[in-house]
Amino acid sequence: MNNSKIWLSSPHMGGSEQKYVQEAFDTNWVAPLGPNVSGLEKDLEKYLSNGEVAVGVLSSGTAAIHLGLVLLGVTSGDEVICQSMTFSASVNPIFYQGATPIFVDSEWDTWNLCPIALEAAITDRIAKGKKPKAIIAVHLYGVPYQIEAIRAIADAYDIPILEDAAEALGSSFKGQKCGTFGDIGVLSFNGNKIITTSGGGAIVMPTVALKERAIFFATQSRDAAPHYQHSEIGYNYRMSNVCAGIGRGQMEVLDDHVEKRRAMHDFYVDLFKNVAGISVFSVPNSDYFANYWLSAILIDPEKTNGITRESMRLALEADNIESRPLWKPMHLQPIFQQYPYYGEKVAETLFENGLCLPSGSNLTDEDRKRIQDVLLKFMGI
Ligand SMILES: *Cc1c(COP(=O)(O)O)cnc(C)c1O
Repeated sequence: MNNSKIWLSSPHMGGSEQKYVQEAFDTNWVAPLGPNVSGLEKDLEKYLSNGEVAVGVLSSGTAAIHLGLVLLGVTSGDEVICQSMTFSASVNPIFYQGATPIFVDSEWDTWNLCPIALEAAITDRIAKGKKPKAIIAVHLYGVPYQIEAIRAIADAYDIPILEDAAEALGSSFKGQKCGTFGDIGVLSFNGNKIITTSGGGAIVMPTVALKERAIFFATQSRDAAPHYQHSEIGYNYRMSNVCAGIGRGQMEVLDDHVEKRRAMHDFYVDLFKNVAGISVFSVPNSDYFANYWLSAILIDPEKTNGITRESMRLALEADNIESRPLWKPMHLQPIFQQYPYYGEKVAETLFENGLCLPSGSNLTDEDRKRIQDVLLKFMGI
């Protein structure tokens, strides 16, 4: 019997990536600039909004979040609101700027920022003397956050949104692509994301002027002078032209990857449809379109005869199948637990009872059969 590892989400090459990488070598553009870098930026601008936004590709999604905070003017002593239920990369750059995170709970429909807790956080921070400088909102597992409610609050208090769309390339709300809803948007091309450059990210901005500013910071803040002159702190955050070549090939198969990830979600919906106490994380209504980067389930142990997310995880692991608990909320992390938190226990409950299941666009019928056999046996079906 084939017992090779089934991953949660692994790189999936489309076929033409190496052609672009070869071009980089043939023309000696082995540098953090070149035709693949500008080509990938153009591809993304077209994909996201038919060219209405400006995109800068960078060395990682984390770098993009950091530069986003720099561009929004976040600096030492500022407070930045951040969705608690997320990956630590959403939060760490707040500290790079010497600012403080204010964590906010999720709501049950999209597992993302709860509008009620968000507004409570903003009004309380203002009452305590400091208006938050930015709101970091995340589209977890590719499901868009409550776009309209969050935007209305941000506008009412005049606070910019940094949209962490690292997991949501290919997702949309009312036909508009994720990555274009924030004052600044962020994408990731890490190895486990929906497309990859082996490591990389992008920053999405409304104007070319802002993009030029981002690229300025990302290339060591070099002033216009024949010698190296600097008037501001800079970073080395640009993407290599070799990696961007992988990205150009991946853009050709992005929509295919979205379709296949969504098919994995349908597979799990079907598998669990008659199982009491287990629900597959799905969009709340047809305004939302999710890439379902990872398929996730929520288990109610009171209704499953003792099945928990941990027992299911171990059953899968025994068969060499990777699964993973949902993101552990940031306000519960040892390194972040002393910072303010607003909300109830939604994120905490999701973490305790949620599990991400193998979701890659490269999973085969044989992989699905193995996953199904293990899960049905485990659940006693
Ligand atoms: C992956 C991810 C990031 C970071 O992206 P990198 O490219 O790995 O630096 C940020 N936020 C979220 C929600 C992510 O999932």
